Amino acid sequence: MTQKIHLPSVDRLLQQLAGSIAEFGRQPVTACVRAELAAAREGLLGGLPAPDEADLLAAVRRRAADAARPRLRPVFNLTGTVLHTNLGRAQLAEEAIALMVEAARAPCALEYDLASGGRGDRDDLVSALLAELVGGGREDLAATVVNNNAAAVLLALNALAQGKEAIVSRGELVEIGGAFRIPDVMRRAQVRLVEVGTTNRTHAADYEEAIGPKCALLMKVHTSNYAVTGFAKTVDERAVAAIAHARGLPFLVDLGSGTLADFASYGLPAEPTPQQALAAGADLVTFSGDKLLGGPQAGLIVGRADLIAKIKKNPLKRALRVGKTTLAALEATLRLYRDPDRLRERLPTLRLLTRSPAEIDAAARRLLPAVQAALGDAAEVAVETCSSQIGSGALPVERLPSRALVLRPAAKRPGRALLRLEAALRGLPRPVIGHLRDNALRLDLRCLEAGDEAAFVAQLGALELHRDRIATD
Ligand SMILES: *Cc1c(COP(=O)(O)O)cnc(C)c1O
Repeated sequence: MTQKIHLPSVDRLLQQLAGSIAEFGRQPVTACVRAELAAAREGLLGGLPAPDEADLLAAVRRRAADAARPRLRPVFNLTGTVLHTNLGRAQLAEEAIALMVEAARAPCALEYDLASGGRGDRDDLVSALLAELVGGGREDLAATVVNNNAAAVLLALNALAQGKEAIVSRGELVEIGGAFRIPDVMRRAQVRLVEVGTTNRTHAADYEEAIGPKCALLMKVHTSNYAVTGFAKTVDERAVAAIAHARGLPFLVDLGSGTLADFASYGLPAEPTPQQALAAGADLVTFSGDKLLGGPQAGLIVGRADLIAKIKKNPLKRALRVGKTTLAALEATLRLYRDPDRLRERLPTLRLLTRSPAEIDAAARRLLPAVQAALGDAAEVAVETCSSQIGSGALPVERLPSRALVLRPAAKRPGRALLRLEAALRGLPRPVIGHLRDNALRLDLRCLEAGDEAAFVAQLGALELHRDRIATD
């Protein structure tokens, strides 16, 4: 390996990269120069010709720009799943974003009681609001907030039943995506799970007979992401609460999504609310902040003040607590629920879920020409009916009628062309994420609101570069 390699020096290249250095900083650009030179050297050793200096410089600029781009990037969620866990679930309301930014920028009264000047409790920022919204005027309620609902369940179980038993129906031993399984969470909480009933049928007597001296609580889990139908029976919350209370035991309900709004009044399929669970006798309910509630990622535990106090004393609470930006977004989101008349207009989750098919259809017809023009002959674009899902396990069987732009590549072997088309859309400055089905790429427009249409169209020009690649077989 004594071959002489003719590549420009690092300094020589850096002298020609003033623009990139001004934009991204000297050190990152230098690292990119070294990386490109190393790649070129590899190439030379492998028998490739030396790159032009201009090509090297262009490659460095691209690499520097790419390295500086945040990895957490906004995308267009056209998958048809409104609360898409992989795409960050709920989009926050402007009110929540504003309070979050303020909390991030300046010191804030997170754990500081402004009335007394003494130490405060971060849960107090939302505890009264939650009690008001879900308690219907009950005085004995409190709330605490942790990182997500999985953490809420883990914490509640550990605080109330460590070293003891908790009773759950076999029909409710759910697995939520991402390794949340009730039996595993029980084990981690150091609680012995006592399964009762069968997968399809559980009776009141099953609960009653399972209560022994080591039993610490009864629990119901909302089977959010699946449905047991046919020869099925469950015991409702009121009945389980009565069984628990007759033995002096608390009754915990994991609602999963738990919206605070009356979904039926918005023409949506009914979803159980924490209000209903508490009214039916639950002592504690847990639910997510970023599912149907439409707020930040968080886990909310609401219920009997004495049980909440016990939970807050558990050391896991400190490990699972949320920060100021989360609490800011949560407080602002909850405040919106005080004004149901304007909730739909202000809360993006509710707004997206309640968009009418006619409105989405009009958007699809407005956007079709621009998408077709960008793709040229590479693919044919049509407006078709489709059905959106709510997502995040909420109401798994229900579908919302919607409209999609359906893109069908012109290539004879559409399989590969489809993947290239999908990749091209994913490669746009604000990636467009659709849904592949039946040899077509479907872009459900439910989550593309009118205010975002211009940004969507503006970047489509970049697809023209990919036309030939998409069209080739
Ligand atoms: C979604 C869900 C969870 C987990 O909630 P995260 O906020 O995602 O941690 C737990 N239980 C049920 C029933 C759920 O639907």
